Amino acid sequence: MKNYLSKTACEIAPYTAGEQPADRKYVKLNTNENPYPPSPKALEAYQNYDFSLLKLYPPLEMRNLRGAIAAAEGVAPENVFCGNGSDEILALCFSAFFDPDGAGAAFADVTYSFYPVFAEFFKIRTQILPLEEDFTLDLSKLTAMPAQGVIVANPNAPTGIGIPLGEVEKFVAANDRIVILDEAYMPFFNESAVPLIKKYKNLVVVKTFSKGYSLAGMRCGYAIADASIISGLERCRDCFNSYPVDRICQAVCAAAIADKAYYEKMNALVVAERERLTAALSGLGFTVLPSKANFVFARHAAVAGRQVYEQLRARGVLVRHFQKPRIADYCRITVGSREENDALIAALRDWIR
Ligand code: PMP
Repeated sequence: MKNYLSKTACEIAPYTAGEQPADRKYVKLNTNENPYPPSPKALEAYQNYDFSLLKLYPPLEMRNLRGAIAAAEGVAPENVFCGNGSDEILALCFSAFFDPDGAGAAFADVTYSFYPVFAEFFKIRTQILPLEEDFTLDLSKLTAMPAQGVIVANPNAPTGIGIPLGEVEKFVAANDRIVILDEAYMPFFNESAVPLIKKYKNLVVVKTFSKGYSLAGMRCGYAIADASIISGLERCRDCFNSYPVDRICQAVCAAAIADKAYYEKMNALVVAERERLTAALSGLGFTVLPSKANFVFARHAAVAGRQVYEQLRARGVLVRHFQKPRIADYCRITVGSREENDALIAALRDWIR
């Protein structure tokens, strides 16, 4: 049969999202969702939304949502860009800040595995910096790479390791080129670089409602940067989809981000559970990297990562395993509710002991 697909559609290796299985009910600790429900204020915004408005396209300027994000982040609405999940914004960053014939994008070998996919899709070169032996990132080495721009996840995924704001600032100051900071997991670390955007025009901070705001199912993310950077993202977005954030999503996310007290309380619970889970896993013979995210990255002294994943799956607990160089011994385990974490620990005890 004749092949009607482009070379890209035939040849690209797309990102593989964590499985969302329907064959049975799992304790789902594989996609870093928040175990707690969204804010009651977000639910209220959803329930009170005037359904008849859905006949109209969403507001192009997203004034309400951008205003709410700006107020929460201490910036102006013109510093805010919203998209259909931070994945979409990260994709737009690759087209807005990198040229196919440019020096490329520099990032770590062990980091969010969507970055190399975006680079390949937009035909942008990559410069890959191996993390140190202990999976920390040497920012001075990244600074020394002759790329058009750099991208860093902080806290990093899937390692969970966080970089303090002081070090991030030195790094941004030392790079006279675009610095993209992916802060998807920042609600569990609280060292956001957003305040730096006033001082550094080369910085773009990308955040999401998926993790810290318990709204992964809504698909909304945002970027904070100087207005000149935001306008570049808007130009690229408008070549692709003028309405990436639907009406209900705009209303729900605006209500969510205004409820700071609720999310601080819930995310503190996640952080406390992360520490409890880390201690329990260590007691079972796991080495756990020091996590600042809502997941831990753990390796057992005697059992291969794939086997941990498979044995847990057979016991109804889903975690994430990456069959990749350097990290095949590890599993990435989302911090769940107390009950979910207990179920994970019980499943491991049942089998490892
Ligand atoms: N960045 C990192 C590091 C992530 O792990 C994820 C979640 N897979 C995202 C961005 C994207 O999140 P979302 O598209 O749900 O905002």
